[in-house]
Amino acid sequence: MINSKHIQRPQQVLVVDDQEINRDALGIILEDHYEVLYAENGKEALDAMRADPDGLSIVLLDLMMPVMSGFEVLKAVRGDEQLGRIPVIVLTADKNAELQALQLGAADFITKPFDVPEIILARVGRIIELSEGRQLISAAEHDALTGLYNRNFFFEYAHRLYQYHPEDRMDAVVMNIEQFHTINAVNGRDFGNDVLRVIGDAVRAFLSETHGIASRVEADRFDIYCVSQPDYAALLKRFQEKVGGISPNVSIRLRMGVMPWRSDVEPVMQFDRARTACNMVRGDYQNPLMFYDDDMRRRELFNQRLLNDLRTAVEDRQFKVFYQPKYDIQSNPPRLSSAEALIRWDHPELGMIAPGDFVPLFEGNGLISVIDSYVWREAAGQVRRWRERYGFTLPVSVNLSRADVFDPTLVDRLVRIIEDNDLNFKDMKLEVTESAYTDNAKELLDVIRRLRRLGFEIEMDDFGSGYSSLNMLSDMPIDVLKMDMKFVRNIEYSETDMVLVKLIIDIARYLKLKVVAEGVETKGQLDLLRGAGCDLVQGYHFSRPLPPEAFERLIERELETERG
Ligand code: C2E
Ligand code: MG
Ligand code: MG
Repeated sequence: MINSKHIQRPQQVLVVDDQEINRDALGIILEDHYEVLYAENGKEALDAMRADPDGLSIVLLDLMMPVMSGFEVLKAVRGDEQLGRIPVIVLTADKNAELQALQLGAADFITKPFDVPEIILARVGRIIELSEGRQLISAAEHDALTGLYNRNFFFEYAHRLYQYHPEDRMDAVVMNIEQFHTINAVNGRDFGNDVLRVIGDAVRAFLSETHGIASRVEADRFDIYCVSQPDYAALLKRFQEKVGGISPNVSIRLRMGVMPWRSDVEPVMQFDRARTACNMVRGDYQNPLMFYDDDMRRRELFNQRLLNDLRTAVEDRQFKVFYQPKYDIQSNPPRLSSAEALIRWDHPELGMIAPGDFVPLFEGNGLISVIDSYVWREAAGQVRRWRERYGFTLPVSVNLSRADVFDPTLVDRLVRIIEDNDLNFKDMKLEVTESAYTDNAKELLDVIRRLRRLGFEIEMDDFGSGYSSLNMLSDMPIDVLKMDMKFVRNIEYSETDMVLVKLIIDIARYLKLKVVAEGVETKGQLDLLRGAGCDLVQGYHFSRPLPPEAFERLIERELETERG
């Protein structure tokens, strides 16, 4: 429907077609709304455009014409600063020509035989509106590095294909490079750019064989909108082989997410979902390809629900802190030495929710700080109450997220919590996950050093889960290494894993760090770890994380054993 503001003064439309019947058909549709001029071939069209470039609001251009074709007009217009500002809608019956026309800078296309008048009017009106708002898509809208479309153009274009060609079942494919920032940091930006170019070339080569368009929408994210492919694994492999050939010394891994065509999902949403799928396989080198499916949809709805419910959850105290003991295994029998505070969400309708289901979600939007503060306060209060009750202090470790570490009020918040509960700094240990150390290290290390100077003990959590290397450790201001669970899991069966564990323990000892093994579930694992010199152990073998009352029974049993 055309908006009345577009017809305040009659705008000029130039209709270019060699067939009289087409000119008449369009004239009848347009003449009530616009002042319509006519041309019979490309040359006449250019003359009319040059005669009054500012007066013309839009050109409707046939492609196949004698004397001078529409393509030639597009080429001429594209190179001309003044004429280039006049939007052109291409009139065509040939889909391939359409793509070419868009690539040459046409703003839209109308298919022959002509659509119903309302649609033509709406499209003409919309393109004029876009051009007057200076949002006109021009052929210059390419990403200079890869030659692919830039984001805006790509989505505009994808949307048109979706809108006007619903019979083409177009899939959304998102491709990403694993750890691209690390590749850049280690090998330099020029190398990083080479990688992006190679991918751009490979994507363009692919699109020359199939119907589709592509964009580098941001740093290392490539979006491809293409007719459904029979084998995406093969496609990913094909791209992977191209980047694999760039340098024998650098391992570059791609991952891919696909959201298949659905008539009711428009491209922006379709690509959001493809990206969700792509992010699901981040770091998963075994399975770098993922399709968006109903599970993910449920997951997204679930996440949305949790985000909505957070506020009431805090107010209604639905978050519960559980405690899991850590045992000193170098004493015989092992002695309870401390505990880790682990959050649970006791949701009134969804039941007990594990942190793995919501911590990453709230890390994404920074709300995790709210939860963490709550946990720290609870944990500190618990240490004080146990001290009052049992006459000794059982230190508790709490988890810090990235968002906490970069919060400028962190140190003050922690100090207040310690003071309010009349604790010593060493009574509340701080666990910082290894992955937090990998980027923005300087800022992080400054904060950690401040905390340590105050007397907090710092434990590096999940050590070995990410990309930090052993040699980074020597500069780290930390007191304790918490070895990631994956090292412990197979030590009873895998010689290699056991060797790794020993290595980590030896290096830690050399650096005067204590080692905690997490996820210890069996007596066999415990014995091997003790033999290797591991200091502390946490895991189901001793106890699952427990609510405070259950943990108290554990303390009491411990006290009895010591006495008796
Ligand atoms: P984490 O800090 O590495 O905590 C250890 C996780 O291992 C806990 O999972 C614990 O229940 C689990 N675990 C302990 N022993 C065993 C075992 O023998 N076998 C197995 N399979 N698992 C064991 P949980 O409680 O689900 O917490 C998961 C992660 O969520 C934590 O990993 C931590 O990164 C995060 N988290 C938990 N509470 C908080 C919190 O208050 N704040 C923040 N920011 N993150 C938290
Ligand atoms: Mg932890
Ligand atoms: Mg851990």
